Amino acid sequence: APPHGRWQGPVRQPVRREAADQDKEYVGFATLPNQVHRKSVKKGFDFTLMVAGESGLGKSTLVNSLFLTDLYKDRKLLNAEERITQTVEITKHTVDIEEKGVKLKLTIVDTPGFGDAVNNTECWKSVADYIDQQFEQYFRDESGLNRKNIQDNRVHCCLYFISPFGHGLRPLDVEFMKALHEKVNIVPILAKADTLTPIEVKKKKFKIREEIQQYGIKIYQFPDCDSDEDEDFKQQDQELKDSIPFAVIGSNTVVEAKGKRVRGRLYPWGIVEVENSAHCDFVKLRNMLVRTHMQDLKDVTRETHYENYRAHCIQSMTRMVVKERNRKPRNTPAKDIRPVEICPLV
Ligand code: GDP
Repeated sequence: APPHGRWQGPVRQPVRREAADQDKEYVGFATLPNQVHRKSVKKGFDFTLMVAGESGLGKSTLVNSLFLTDLYKDRKLLNAEERITQTVEITKHTVDIEEKGVKLKLTIVDTPGFGDAVNNTECWKSVADYIDQQFEQYFRDESGLNRKNIQDNRVHCCLYFISPFGHGLRPLDVEFMKALHEKVNIVPILAKADTLTPIEVKKKKFKIREEIQQYGIKIYQFPDCDSDEDEDFKQQDQELKDSIPFAVIGSNTVVEAKGKRVRGRLYPWGIVEVENSAHCDFVKLRNMLVRTHMQDLKDVTRETHYENYRAHCIQSMTRMVVKERNRKPRNTPAKDIRPVEICPLV
C-alpha cells in the first residue's frame, strides 16, 4: 500500500515465513505496522520547540532556516532602553506544515527578553513556570471527562543558545539549564559559529561539554544505539553525540556559491553556507530534530519530564489530604459522623 495514500486492503506483499511455519495459517497481524502508520498519518503530528538564550544570538533566524518558514512576521524588536526593564515574555507561533501528505503542527515557543534586563536574577523563572503550566493543563485535561481530544502543548525540546563570544558558559547559562533540566529536553547550541575559526569551535565545544558535566547539568541524552545496527549508523550516531553543543549558523538569505543558490551569509572574504556540514552543524541539528529524534524527544517528555511533574502533583495532593485529615479532631463523636451520600445507580 502506498504509505500515505488510501488504504487498499491488507498488505499485498507476501509475508515472509520461516520454513517450519509454512503450514501455519496466515492470520494477518503483519498489517499492524501499516494500521498504526495510517492512523497516525491521518491524525497528524505535533511538535513544540522552545528557543531560549540572550536576544541577538540568532534564535529567530535559525528557526526560520530550520523550517523554511517565516515564523516571526510580526515581531517587534525593542530598543536598548525598553530592554533594561524588560521581563521575560513568552510568545508562541504555530504553523501547519505538510510534506508528502504528512501533516505537522509545529509550535515555536520563544522567550524574548531572556537575559536582556540589567538584573537577570531568576529570569529563567517565567520559562520554568510556562513549562509547568503546560504540564498542569495536560494533567487537568487527562483527569477530566473528555480525554479524547486533549490538546498537547507540552514543550518537547528547548534549544538553548550559548554565546560564541564568552569563555564557555556564563553564570546565567548554568542557572537556566540547571533550573530547567528536569522539566524539558535541553539541547545546547553554540550560536553564530561563523564568528569562530574551526579550532575555536572545537575548543569552545570541549569547554562547554566539560562545564556541563562539572555543573551537573542534565542535557538531552541521545538514546543508545542498538548493538545490531550497522556500522555506518553507529558511526553517525557517535558523531551526533560528539557534536554537542551544535555549532550553528543561521541565515534568511539565499546567496550564490559556486553557481548554486544556497542559504548562506555573504562576507567580503567569502560565503558561509548554512547547509554545508564543513561550515557548521546545522544539517546535523535539523536531521536530529526532524528526521531521527523527534519521536524520542516526545517520548522522553512524556515518560520522564511529564511523569516527574505528575508524580510530584499526586504526592503533594496526597500530602494535602493527609494534612487536612490530621487537622480534624481525632475522636469524632459518633453523632457527628454523617452517612456518606451514595448516588443511586440508574
Ligand atoms: P534573536 O534575537 O536571538 O532572535 O536573534 P535574530 O535571529 O534576530 O538575529 C540577530 C542578528 O544576528 C541579525 O542581524 C541576524 O542577521 C544575525 N544572525 C543571525 N544568525 C546569525 C549567524 O549564524 N551568524 C551571524 N554572524 N549572524 C547571525
